[in-house]
Amino acid sequence: MNNARFFCGPNDTPPLEALGWNRDLASAFTRYSGRYIPGRVACRQRTHYEVFIEGGTLNAGISGALRRAGHIPVVGDFVALHSRPEAGVSTIVDILPRKTTFTRGVPGKDGVDQVIAANIDTVFIVTAAGRDLNARRLERYLALVHASGAHPVIIINKADLADTPDLLAETISPVTAGVPVITLSALTRAGLSLLEAYLLPGITVALIGSSGVGKSTLINALLEQTVQDTNPVRESDGRGRHKTTVRQLFILQNGALVIDNPGLREVGIGTAGSGISETFVDIGRLAEGCRFSDCRHEQEPGCAVREAVMQGDLTQERLDNYLRLTKEQTFEVEKTEIGLVRYERKRWKAISILARNLSKGKSRF
Ligand code: GDP
Ligand code: ZN
Repeated sequence: MNNARFFCGPNDTPPLEALGWNRDLASAFTRYSGRYIPGRVACRQRTHYEVFIEGGTLNAGISGALRRAGHIPVVGDFVALHSRPEAGVSTIVDILPRKTTFTRGVPGKDGVDQVIAANIDTVFIVTAAGRDLNARRLERYLALVHASGAHPVIIINKADLADTPDLLAETISPVTAGVPVITLSALTRAGLSLLEAYLLPGITVALIGSSGVGKSTLINALLEQTVQDTNPVRESDGRGRHKTTVRQLFILQNGALVIDNPGLREVGIGTAGSGISETFVDIGRLAEGCRFSDCRHEQEPGCAVREAVMQGDLTQERLDNYLRLTKEQTFEVEKTEIGLVRYERKRWKAISILARNLSKGKSRF
């Protein structure tokens, strides 16, 4: 059965709502109505974008103005398109406001975090029974997802390989803090139906997780057809590398939108503030009892967080990981700030040259 209504190519004709279109987007779009048409970026290819529109798919480039402003559309973006069927290629002229953003945590040329995917509602953090089921890695992914603004759901895949699958969720319960955990097997399809609660019409779900945990297998199971190469060595060969750079948005038969975004797994912790505190709510609560309000929970006297470790209420490993992620984030924020200063300097230089040329009566700039 073909369960994929779309796979990066001309296919079906969904109404705009099926792409996740809503009232906020409609009102942001009113300034363009009549001139441009709305769409959603499904694939970012090397030379062009594939954009879902009401009634099909378009190939599009981006306008010079967007490019010069450094506003680069990413998969999941809602955009305004100048549709030019006669020219064979359309142009993305603007990006509508993003509800959530995943950033690379590495500043781009302009010193601003690079966005790699947008408008994701729910993120499936995929892990697998066995060695990958690692609390520290989950904490990192949780911080990333919280920072993006999306809702995390933890999936423990490969339940078929565990002797006692029912106990898997328990092994990570100290880090999940209210985040839903679903144990399943993408291979045998056991537990797959538990995802239905999250795969809802117009809702955009992305999958992240380490290589080999079964993300492609899971997407295939959801699509019930093979659209992803599940070859586990694909990252190390040259041919496969190209594949990992192509982001894709799929629409499932039940109307949910799925973004397979392998790029998300290499991302740094990012500079978007609240992710770590949302992941370590327990540490935040404990920190209220520290003697110093700016306590870093390292050497300070009267530290309630270290006291909790001593009492056995918090594991040393969780605290260590919290400190490590916080340091990493501080470092990235500093890096971004340095980048911004450079960017501002360059911009002012360009503006002053422009002003000089104008005052000399030169029309070219
Ligand atoms: P990805 O790198 O996260 O996309 O992982 P893949 O989907 O390529 O899967 C990696 C390997 O794990 C493949 O050999 C899959 O067949 C296998 N795999 C995926 N899901 C399951 C599962 O639920 N159970 C078992 N036993 N193997 C699985
Ligand atoms: Zn403290």
